[in-house]
Amino acid sequence: CGIIGVTGTGPAVPRLIDSLKRLEYRGYDSAGVAALVEGRIERRRAKGKIRELETVLAADPLESTIGIGHTRWATHGAPTTENAHPHKAGRVTLVHNGIIENFAELKGELAAEGRVFESQTDTEVVAHLLDRALNGGNDPVAAFKTVLDRLTGAYALAVLVEGEDGLIMGARRGSPLVVGWGEGEMYLGSDALAVGPFTQKISYLEEGDYVAVDRSGARMFDASGEAVDRPIVQVSASS
Ligand code: GLU
Repeated sequence: CGIIGVTGTGPAVPRLIDSLKRLEYRGYDSAGVAALVEGRIERRRAKGKIRELETVLAADPLESTIGIGHTRWATHGAPTTENAHPHKAGRVTLVHNGIIENFAELKGELAAEGRVFESQTDTEVVAHLLDRALNGGNDPVAAFKTVLDRLTGAYALAVLVEGEDGLIMGARRGSPLVVGWGEGEMYLGSDALAVGPFTQKISYLEEGDYVAVDRSGARMFDASGEAVDRPIVQVSASS
């Protein structure tokens, strides 16, 4: 039910946790984070409160300067650890808010190619679709666009790709997503509150937009794939 992404130079995971606590008000049944550690994406997930996720992280820490986090309000698949986000397929790890309405059809197509699913979520098909598109040799942003074009339903997404150090891709349709601008750090979040601990400079993505952020900035595109600039607005520090 909430999304956060951080790419910068400082420790990412404590910030992800800080942000997830601010997203608690939206309601959730499980939570998770993923981060790029020595070129590999690792996940930590837990059913229940953010506190449970912190316990998992204390036992098995993740040190990284880039990561994504999620609070889940289950729509497809029970609220279990294996259904908690982030979801992973090959090089791709992602978090999703919303509902992929055509997931059953997409899952059938992917399963017929031998792809194996480890959750009951609608979300996991998106990770497989993008991993497949990347195997076709596409540049990550171009591959992401081909995947978004296959999805029906509602989504906010934040995506890490192994081998693309510093990059987080995001998209919004039917669920909100904002870009936060820091000094040498960039953020994606469900709302200004999610990135509030780090920055008050926000770009609100518009319906159908997708974005690629790295430490130095953001490249934004509209639903047709045209490069766009959404204005940077200053929100109040209390938000
Ligand atoms: N539909 C997805 C799931 O059930 C995402 C739910 C959410 O928005 O948190 O896992």
